[in-house]
Amino acid sequence: MSAIHGLRFGSDPTVGSDGRDVDIDLGATVDLSVPIVFGKPDSRAFSLPAATSAAVEAGSFVGDVRRGGSCNCETHHLTPHADGTHTEGPGHLTAARSPVRMSEPMCVALLVRVTPRPLGDVADDVSGNHRHDDLVVDDVSVRDAIDAAVQASTVAPWLPAPRALIIATGSGAARRQARFSGQNPPYLTVDAAIAIRERGFMHLLVDLPSIDREDDGGLLAAHRAFFEVPIGLGADTATDTDTDTDTDTDTQPLPRTVTELIAVDDDVAVGLYALFLQVAPIEADAAPSRPVIAPLRLSPRPIAAGAPS
Ligand SMILES: [Zn+2]
Repeated sequence: MSAIHGLRFGSDPTVGSDGRDVDIDLGATVDLSVPIVFGKPDSRAFSLPAATSAAVEAGSFVGDVRRGGSCNCETHHLTPHADGTHTEGPGHLTAARSPVRMSEPMCVALLVRVTPRPLGDVADDVSGNHRHDDLVVDDVSVRDAIDAAVQASTVAPWLPAPRALIIATGSGAARRQARFSGQNPPYLTVDAAIAIRERGFMHLLVDLPSIDREDDGGLLAAHRAFFEVPIGLGADTATDTDTDTDTDTDTQPLPRTVTELIAVDDDVAVGLYALFLQVAPIEADAAPSRPVIAPLRLSPRPIAAGAPS
């Protein structure tokens, strides 16, 4: 095994009473992304158009080496919300076209596994369209999964609270192949979304096409709960007259992100990881992204007091 233990993390003396280093194991990274593949007959979700790609043709130039071109050069047509792993920010919901940004290049993430339950079996709040046999990630399940994963972690005492929550609900192999359109896939209840936000998670990643129901009547209730974007927020930041200080647009939504259509292979253990979430630099409400996680392990090296890091 050729693990790389090259980085130190968590040596902040405020973290942990007697201080322990935590290593990021860069030799055991896991890529959670599901790639965009061009030329498929359909997209992955919402019955949206499939991603397409066409060689540029200009005069005598053709951007396809197979056709005699000097290089490959293609124009891509894609819909990030349906074609593969993508990340979105509050701008997904607002008239203000604020592009998605990942505010931190690396953060601590907690990976949990939750088996969705029938909505009729849980006590959570739901809005918009729903049926009692919808499968949902509910408040109690997500809280229990978070608590169990943290308690089982050997590195948790030495780290700041995780900033990202990764929820796996199904087989990674199946998720990579899945076509969710018309399947009414599982989704998060509003209560679950609120619980995740209130626990301080800024970034939420799921192996589902959306944290909301495929058709919830247009409310996007779980998105709104997590991003703290009520209907109408940001419709016009200059003329907004909302007097609710919680939601007034003089306080912009925090730079939370939601990443959807990931896949978590079955052998990836629950627990704490370093998350490197790279979002394509496209000025849009959502962009294709690549979440990569690396295990965190207690370092065998003790911290030397006062040693330069
Ligand atoms: Zn989306």
